[in-house]
Amino acid sequence: MNDVEAKLMEAQEGALAALVDVQSEPGLEEWKQANLGKTSLVMRMFGSLGQVPKEDRPAVGRAVNALKVALETAFTEKQQVVKQNQLSQAIASEKLDITLPGRALRRGRLHPLNMTLREIYRVFGDMGFQIYRSPEVELDDFNFTFLNIPPYHPARDMWDTFYTETEGVLLRTHTSPGQIRVMRERAPEDIRVILPGVCMRYEQLTARSEIEFIQIEVLVVGKGISFADMKGTLKDFVARTFGPEARTRLRPSYFPFTEPSAEMDVECFICGGEGCGVCKGSGWLEILGCGMVHPTVLQYGGYDPSVYSGFAAGMGIDRSTLMRYRIDDIRHFRNNDIRFLEQY
Ligand SMILES: [Zn+2]
Repeated sequence: MNDVEAKLMEAQEGALAALVDVQSEPGLEEWKQANLGKTSLVMRMFGSLGQVPKEDRPAVGRAVNALKVALETAFTEKQQVVKQNQLSQAIASEKLDITLPGRALRRGRLHPLNMTLREIYRVFGDMGFQIYRSPEVELDDFNFTFLNIPPYHPARDMWDTFYTETEGVLLRTHTSPGQIRVMRERAPEDIRVILPGVCMRYEQLTARSEIEFIQIEVLVVGKGISFADMKGTLKDFVARTFGPEARTRLRPSYFPFTEPSAEMDVECFICGGEGCGVCKGSGWLEILGCGMVHPTVLQYGGYDPSVYSGFAAGMGIDRSTLMRYRIDDIRHFRNNDIRFLEQY
């Protein structure tokens, strides 16, 4: 037993002395292999405990275990010292140069669609209109029924709609449901608002159409509002947007929620009315749909159509933004590619 103890003592002293010289992680690993690895003295002694005479076995076992614990403790302590030294060296050698210029932040800028929107807000704001925001997820009744598009009405075929799993709830196909919401909120006061926002239609993605688009709707309700008021207001809007010399024309059209209905064209601002690729040779660009608010819609909004009248107009701003900035593909708007956005 004394022989064994002496042997273990010697092994411990030798191992600890060797550990003093270790200064790196590979050195640590090497030391661990030699002194605590499978072929190390400690492990070999554990393996051969069965050959030790029975009466000596507990004492030898304890002694070997004590050596193992001592070596492991020393190893862990040394490991921390080595790590700490490496960190100190790294800090000393990688000094921070505070005189270097900082990294420039890339500044964001307004999306072309938002620039168009803000321009339109400004124009209508100058004309005394308020902005009214209404939900993008709508009830079927607000999107269709209250706008004079009952369930059996063939006009519902004009839109392919995203319906949600909840019955009667859908992604609005136009900003017009906001007309009902603002009327119900304000009736019987006069209304002069614009309703901007995102709309969704189930369409195939092409360079000219997207499932998501932004519309702005105009709504005026009051006593004695006439078709002439509508024409004057919209001509004023065009003059403030495209310049006082911009010519406009109204063409008869059809919408379920207005009667009579019209489309307004503006003289092509690219060719000046002579005909070009953008206006497809006609000299005119279609910019908005409009009309007198249908009596049924007024009624659903809480206004008596025998006393009140109003007009509404709606325009998509995606295509006009394409033209305004000469953008060739509508899909650029929602690709989130900063290289596109940086150009404007
Ligand atoms: Zn043209």
